[in-house]
Amino acid sequence: MIADFKNKKILIISPHPDDLEIGMGGTAFILSKKNQIYHIICTNGSGSTNEFSSKEVLIQKRKDESKQSNNFLKVKESKIYKIDHIKNNKNKLEFIKLFKKDIKKIRPDILFCTHPKLDNHPTHRKISREIMKIINKNKIKIFYYQVWGCFNKFNYYVDISKVVEKKKKMINFHKSQTSYKDYVQGIIGLNKYHAVFNNIKKDDEAYIEVFI
Ligand SMILES: [Zn+2]
Repeated sequence: MIADFKNKKILIISPHPDDLEIGMGGTAFILSKKNQIYHIICTNGSGSTNEFSSKEVLIQKRKDESKQSNNFLKVKESKIYKIDHIKNNKNKLEFIKLFKKDIKKIRPDILFCTHPKLDNHPTHRKISREIMKIINKNKIKIFYYQVWGCFNKFNYYVDISKVVEKKKKMINFHKSQTSYKDYVQGIIGLNKYHAVFNNIKKDDEAYIEVFI
């Protein structure tokens, strides 16, 4: 069902610069062929482990990595908000202001974001909750993708077996992150897990991304 979307404006929300790639890189790659993809990255990613000389260097690195990945995905438009985190009210209000402006401009048909309750990362939940307060759910179809944590039950899935190498490549653009955590093995393993334990396909090559 998700993989069949055509001629839609699809907005994908990443709380941090690498969430799209980890959570739904395969699906995004498939969707990018027949739809317009918009990508909003809500924070600059400066809160992650920093192996560089300063916060500014890390921010620039993550910006460059995202640019490479967004170019590879051929997104119509991507943005990274210049916000470190949304832990305080000032930053939260800044995020709300920026997002309200962008959602009005983009007017997506479909929106993908992290889950407001089931994701284990507090920033992922918080950003998703704020977005749900802002958007008109009658006009925009919403799907949640998984990053930190595994959905035990899901409503939709996309077979990403044919594009799994593209997904790996997209995650690997984020070298500042993969250098200290093996995100590729972790998430591709989870994509495999979902396929195997839900008996999606007999073919043991299947990898799926799941959505609520
Ligand atoms: Zn994240």
